[in-house]
Amino acid sequence: MVSQRMLKLGTARSVIRELFEYGKQRAVQVGAENVFDFSLGNPSVPAPEALNEQAIRILQEQPELIHCYTSAQGDLGARQRFTDSLNRRFHSHYTPDQFYITTGAASALCCCFSALTCPEDEFIVFAPYFPEYGVFIQSAGATMVVVPPEIETFQIDFTAFQERITPHTKGVVINSPNNPSGVVYSKDTLEHLACILREKSREYGHPIYLISDEPYREIVFGETNVEWLPDLYENTLVCYSFSKSLSLPGERLGYVLVPDTVEDASDVYAAVAGAGRSLGYVNAPSLFQQVTSLCCDMTADLSVYEENCKILVPALREMGYHVVEPNGAFYLFPRSLEPDDMAFSQKAKEFDLLLVPGSGFGAPGHFRLAYCVQTDMIHRALPRFKALAKVYGLG
Ligand code: PLP
Repeated sequence: MVSQRMLKLGTARSVIRELFEYGKQRAVQVGAENVFDFSLGNPSVPAPEALNEQAIRILQEQPELIHCYTSAQGDLGARQRFTDSLNRRFHSHYTPDQFYITTGAASALCCCFSALTCPEDEFIVFAPYFPEYGVFIQSAGATMVVVPPEIETFQIDFTAFQERITPHTKGVVINSPNNPSGVVYSKDTLEHLACILREKSREYGHPIYLISDEPYREIVFGETNVEWLPDLYENTLVCYSFSKSLSLPGERLGYVLVPDTVEDASDVYAAVAGAGRSLGYVNAPSLFQQVTSLCCDMTADLSVYEENCKILVPALREMGYHVVEPNGAFYLFPRSLEPDDMAFSQKAKEFDLLLVPGSGFGAPGHFRLAYCVQTDMIHRALPRFKALAKVYGLG
């Protein structure tokens, strides 16, 4: 007998992974150039060359040190470099003991949810949301409460939000730039959110934490500004990742930042470390603690994402797809051309377009298109999108 919950998690179909695997099989049948796989958020640009050089240099110069355990919360030198970088960028006064280095944003989030959860606690997420939140929150023993999407803009529906805050609300998760909508929340939106959280924290007599999930912080278009949430709301925990900014998703490096403005900050930090310990996450990869901290002021060449977006959005709109303009990340979340997004995704497969149904993101009637692909593939996929639209009498 095994844990039924874990068994279910391990065997349940992940629609995204299934599409990805299907794409690989299909490529063998019809040729890779004829499969248009928009399923997975795997960065399509290489990590910076300077980063690879750092990795090689460190391996050559310090081989006996680099494969060792570090402090459980991460190497002090690495935390100092993350600290200095944020202080330069945001004119803040963080210290290394506020950083807990993790294996990517996924474990940063798990540490935060586990650290904060007491019996009967709830975390609010805004649809459309990253589907793994449900798994992480449930694993921490809390309940995920979903605020339905505001489908005209994918900003926050505050009426729906206020209806869902209760004395059980322990935290609210924000992901901006957003996966899957690509939307960046405006300063007004976030200030309004902060105001409500402050008021409700006062009313319920306990802090409501904001968990800012920020793997796409650096991927923004035009003049878009991503607000630094700890400046707007004192009880913010930041979950960062280098997976997308440095194109390193497989190296698993990120951190939790617990600013000293957070109520009971030292307990919260200690609980984050305790959660890391209890989940077996201690010691993110040593080599990449060094590499990312030495390269944390650079990014991969992220410009291709904006370029892809500028091609796709007008072309899809012209064909009749309804698309909310994204300001960042590398996803579009258009309306599916029939209400049943699963059926629509199946139909798209007939054109070798691999599109993820929106239901898993809490927004049925939509689909996610990950455009972190070669620009050439976007151009070649457009006739397929047109043919798909024609099936529905558009295009
Ligand atoms: N949060 C969001 C919104 C994501 O899109 C992802 C990955 O795609 C993660 C968290 C997890 O990122 P990481 O690779 O750093 O674990």
